[in-house]
Amino acid sequence: LLHQAIESRETADHSPAEGNAPRDVNVQDLEEALTLGQIHLAYQPKVRCRTGTIVGVEALARWQHPRLGFIPPDVFIPLAEAHDLIDRLTLQVTEQALDWLADISSDDTARRVGQHALQETVLSLNVSARSLGNVALFDAILQRCRERDIAPERIVLELTETSAMQDAITSLDTLTRLRLQGFQLSIDDFGTGYSSMVQLVRLPFSEIKVDKRFVMTANDSEESRAVIRSVVELGRSLGLNTTAEGVEDGETLAYLDALKCDLAQGYLISRPLPPDAFLDWFIARESQ
Ligand code: C2E
Ligand code: CA
Ligand code: CA
Ligand code: CA
Repeated sequence: LLHQAIESRETADHSPAEGNAPRDVNVQDLEEALTLGQIHLAYQPKVRCRTGTIVGVEALARWQHPRLGFIPPDVFIPLAEAHDLIDRLTLQVTEQALDWLADISSDDTARRVGQHALQETVLSLNVSARSLGNVALFDAILQRCRERDIAPERIVLELTETSAMQDAITSLDTLTRLRLQGFQLSIDDFGTGYSSMVQLVRLPFSEIKVDKRFVMTANDSEESRAVIRSVVELGRSLGLNTTAEGVEDGETLAYLDALKCDLAQGYLISRPLPPDAFLDWFIARESQ
């Protein structure tokens, strides 16, 4: 029942209301949303392929507009990027996510869930490659971590492959600085761009994420499996954490585990969940 409740909440969270085309949304709506605090977060767990142990959560932005309904991030993130609102959004998202991380890491929560498993949990945040030039943003993120006594080592900054590779060479300074401060860096949606191994070696990433389009089609496509195999191998040979996103069935998870892919994320494990539902999910899973 709990799971049904969580499912329906998340499904509701994902469905645009009938007749409300997200394209109607404009930059004023987004500015208002940021001012009024309409952007919330859903959290998707990341587990070890081998053991199913939770190691992290990814924060994903959600916007429920009172009139326009649910606006998907694929719509409002590009809008924010196009109108110079992305750094403001990133900082809001960061603050919410860090507050929540501090909360699930607290002794209070440990007592409530009956164990300390969440006290080491790592938080992944999506960062637009456009922000890489903005040193002030990353200083602010570091500051927010310190205020909450959260070690930067517990934060993974995810950058998408195409953008990261185009801009990362020029932003090598920023990336190196972030690594030295302790942040982990992840390269998201890997396999979709055309990065070379040479480029990847030069950049201080700690994780590589196989794009979900390959993972979701692994069962039916030898091409997809070939991409997954080569990304996992590349990641391993560079000493990176390898993560597969979009894991929807047990067969795919078994395949990933056989390849020695480290981590998995996907609907099989859990959909992105509202903050409270996440703890319910965790408790239900631990008591299985
Ligand atoms: P992403 O970072 O690649 O996130 C993974 C997306 O795949 C999420 O979509 C997630 O809900 C979805 N997903 C996870 N597991 C599965 C699965 O098993 N099957 C399927 N079909 N989908 C799965 P979502 O939440 O709609 O986000 C879309 C994109 O929007 C994200 O892709 C990310 O690039 C961007 N985004 C979301 N939140 C933020 C944010 O706070 N900042 C920035 N800059 N971008 C964000
Ligand atoms: Ca991501
Ligand atoms: Ca991705
Ligand atoms: Ca499938």
